[in-house]
Amino acid sequence: MAKKITVITGGAGFIGSHLCERLLNEGFKVICLDNLITGSLENISSLLKDKNFHFIKHDVTKYIKIKGRVDYVLHLASPASPQDYLKLPIQTLKVGSLGTHNSLGLAKEKKAIFLLASTSEVYGDPLVHPQTENYWGNVNPVGLRGAYDESKRFSEAITMAYHRVHRIDTKIARIFNTYGERMRIDDGRVIPNFIYQAINNQPLTVYGRGTQTRSFCYISDMIEGLFRLMLSKLNEPVNLGNPFEFRIIDLAYLVIRLAKSKSKIVFKKLPQDDPVRRKPDITKAKKFLKWEPKVNLEEGLLFTIDWFKNNRKEASL
Ligand code: NAD
Ligand code: UDP
Repeated sequence: MAKKITVITGGAGFIGSHLCERLLNEGFKVICLDNLITGSLENISSLLKDKNFHFIKHDVTKYIKIKGRVDYVLHLASPASPQDYLKLPIQTLKVGSLGTHNSLGLAKEKKAIFLLASTSEVYGDPLVHPQTENYWGNVNPVGLRGAYDESKRFSEAITMAYHRVHRIDTKIARIFNTYGERMRIDDGRVIPNFIYQAINNQPLTVYGRGTQTRSFCYISDMIEGLFRLMLSKLNEPVNLGNPFEFRIIDLAYLVIRLAKSKSKIVFKKLPQDDPVRRKPDITKAKKFLKWEPKVNLEEGLLFTIDWFKNNRKEASL
């Protein structure tokens, strides 16, 4: 049987590169489009020699032209860490709007199945806890995080419009905080920051009092969820994340202990609109995808610390 052909935007990023690897292992052909604005060729260096993997350096806010058949379009391109999207608000809004429009256009032309990597940020600073897919969110459109949050809310809206008007088979993954190997040490997200600081015996920077919570999902669990969603019949948004909720201050102590570090903790100003609590309700994913995370936070952090020690220790923040 002919191999299924998948186009993946943002495939040279953290989640994208793991998804490319998984798709190749599952027997797919993969065409990876990335402009490398926050990703890197290093993330996909082991895939470049695979004859079923093809990398094209392309900015998906520009028209996407692919020859031949395409069975799936997976749209992951977007700066994702708060530090990145605060530095790149216009690129973030453009990739969420023009980039999503172009990716949907490709799916329409090829009659391909489309998957959007959306985010828990569509819930903003949520007033409903844990967050269920039918909660509409509490987003400040003109705040600093607005560029990212609104770009993803627009992405979801245009994806549903293409589903309703053009009958595209679309999927929307609302991804909650995900971590693991290949995150950039300088991407500013809490886990790479804390691990880098801990393995270099520098103070861990806790923003605010550290009482805000997040729920962290290890990368292999996220890839399994995305893969199942892509093959599913679900067209409405689905939360993917680990429902184990953890305070940021406790995460700091945990990373110090697991890295066997001598680091202390310092408190810094809490960024604007930083959500107070975040935890996915994954009832829908459990029921329809038969999916739930398997790797607990300690295990996942140990894998990640080990990888950062071997690959990123010398890098500077
Ligand atoms: P990442 O920054 O590592 O990867 C994003 C990739 O998109 C990068 O390789 C970047 O170069 C590429 N890109 C950005 N703009 C582009 C453009 N205009 N054209 C082509 N490529 C472009 O981030 P990630 O953590 O891997 O996130 C991947 C996706 O998952 C993003 O859409 C993000 O919003 C979503 N997501 C991630 C998380 C998480 O915790 N990691 C949480 C929620 C949602
Ligand atoms: N954070 C922190 N110290 C850091 C980086 C982040 O205390 O060095 C906090 C941040 O304020 C937020 C949480 O950790 O409350 C998660 O931040 P991250 O940037 O990883 O992602 P977010 O969930 O905010 O998008």
